[in-house]
Amino acid sequence: MHIVKSSFGVTPSKGEVSAYRLSNQNGMYIDVIDFGAILVRAVLKDREGNPTDVVLGYDTIEGYLDNGCYFGSTIGRSGNRIAGGRFNINGETYQLEQNENENNLHSGPLGYQQMFWDVLELDETENSITFGRVSKNMEQGYPGTFDIKVKYELTEENEILIHYLGISDKDTVANLTNHSYFNLSGHDSGQVLDQKLCIHAQKYTPVADSRSIPTGELAEVGGTPMDFTSMKPIGKEIGADFQQLHFTGGYDHNYALDDYEPGIIRPIAKAYSEKSGITMEVFTDLPGVQFYSGNFIDNEVGKEGAVYTKRSGFCLETQYYPNAVNQQNFPSPILKAGEEYNTVTIYQFYEE
Ligand code: BGC
Repeated sequence: MHIVKSSFGVTPSKGEVSAYRLSNQNGMYIDVIDFGAILVRAVLKDREGNPTDVVLGYDTIEGYLDNGCYFGSTIGRSGNRIAGGRFNINGETYQLEQNENENNLHSGPLGYQQMFWDVLELDETENSITFGRVSKNMEQGYPGTFDIKVKYELTEENEILIHYLGISDKDTVANLTNHSYFNLSGHDSGQVLDQKLCIHAQKYTPVADSRSIPTGELAEVGGTPMDFTSMKPIGKEIGADFQQLHFTGGYDHNYALDDYEPGIIRPIAKAYSEKSGITMEVFTDLPGVQFYSGNFIDNEVGKEGAVYTKRSGFCLETQYYPNAVNQQNFPSPILKAGEEYNTVTIYQFYEE
């Protein structure tokens, strides 16, 4: 286990960016950068022993300055969509930027993935790095000064453990996520449609139209192409004649995960590539996950000159449900003043 720091280039306005490589004894390593607290690489051995990078991303800082797909990004203060970019807390209305149609997506153009983070701690024993930043009152339009830490840990069990810890001095919305795109055959291997996926959710939150705000209903996945309750190739029914898939051009939906109990981490999804033999399991204590099949990736030139096309990666963004702040029947993403925001998501890899 060790951590190595290197330069990741210089931003035109904000200075030097550093990369940190966390390695374990199985030959797995991850690279994260202090710009955006972004996961740049996750490399492990496939069944033939070849090092395989399973996340999409860029080689240099220039790519991340204009990262329209949010590769590897830490998203905050609140991921996904808020209808009209508006919400009410304690009788006050707050207006965020309307950066996607009339709605707010991923907290607007100046999201946490575009901000510099301090490195608060490098822990060689735990094999972790803790990033931190203080988001001022009304930054992005949210009430409350929010002191937030994001810790990446790489374990000997090939887990990337992401621990979010925060506190606000006013009631606010807190809903951070990681927007990594996975391709278990390798970031440069093309589409993920033959990779198998299972999501432990009997229900999902259908959207009202192509603007992707949930209707508020919790619909059964059973008997529909939305059903991933057992392992199924991502592409098997992605082209089905099903209105929800037409609205979003493929999968781009929040799954209401089974067995939600605040603070209890449970397995929520599993994915597998026959080609590489790599399996990924996902664990979280959160109520939902956005399964996004990379429908809008459009010829992005990424690491090592790879050209990422539509559906060459998939995201499993653990979260409170989209627009939950405006939807009384969804678990609430409101963080009360002085209370701890404390949530964990784990992506674990093995080869079989
Ligand atoms: C959203 C997609 C969006 C993507 C941005 C996902 O979280 O659900 O609709 O296009 O982020 O790349």
